[in-house]
Amino acid sequence: MKKIGLLGGMTWGSTIEYYRLLNEGTRKRLGGRHSCKILMDSVDFSELHELISKDDWTSVGTKLAQAALNTEAGGADMLLIGANTMHRVADTVQGALEIPVLHISDAIANKAKELNVSKLGLLGTAFTMEQDFISKPLSEKHDLEIITPASDVRAIIHDSIFNEFAVGKFLDSTREKYINIIKDLEANGAEAIILGCTEIGLLIKASDCNIPLIDTVQAHVDAALDAAIV
Ligand code: GLU
Repeated sequence: MKKIGLLGGMTWGSTIEYYRLLNEGTRKRLGGRHSCKILMDSVDFSELHELISKDDWTSVGTKLAQAALNTEAGGADMLLIGANTMHRVADTVQGALEIPVLHISDAIANKAKELNVSKLGLLGTAFTMEQDFISKPLSEKHDLEIITPASDVRAIIHDSIFNEFAVGKFLDSTREKYINIIKDLEANGAEAIILGCTEIGLLIKASDCNIPLIDTVQAHVDAALDAAIV
């Protein structure tokens, strides 16, 4: 099996999920005592948060490219950027590397195809919902229609990610809000919901909703295992 490079710590609560799902998936595919070959560079999220609060994406790109180069130098055959928002600098990271970055949008599109859906609601940080680094590849490369909640709701989601999930808080009251937001997206025609922030899957589960959820951690892990186990 090939070695998977992983940029972690964004946030570490979801990196644990990446680690667990990569290993569970490897066991499922290869059986027995097999576990996943992973080389992780885990960053300090507070440093990144400070930079994105100042809109300094150039420095975010530089930091993540350096972390990615560490995994390449250590023998990684491919790279996962373990967060949706940080795909804002995916091109910078890819530009620094010889190995491929497995873009989270391609992984999401694989799941949409499996579910046979074409109109999807996207939840994530304001960056992810309002800029086009996730939605553009989904619409232009994969022909999917992406809808997002209204701006006041986007602000609530963004705030919950940085002020709750990023500090390890997962509240029942926030779960209720997300369930209602998802119902509204469904009423607006969404056939599935992209949990386009790697912590949202720690808050809500498929059993909380009537509509299929695409957990981007699971989608990304499955795409990586498809590439690593050939
Ligand atoms: N993990 C989150 C994401 O998938 C948000 C934290 C971050 O800004 O990286 O977008």
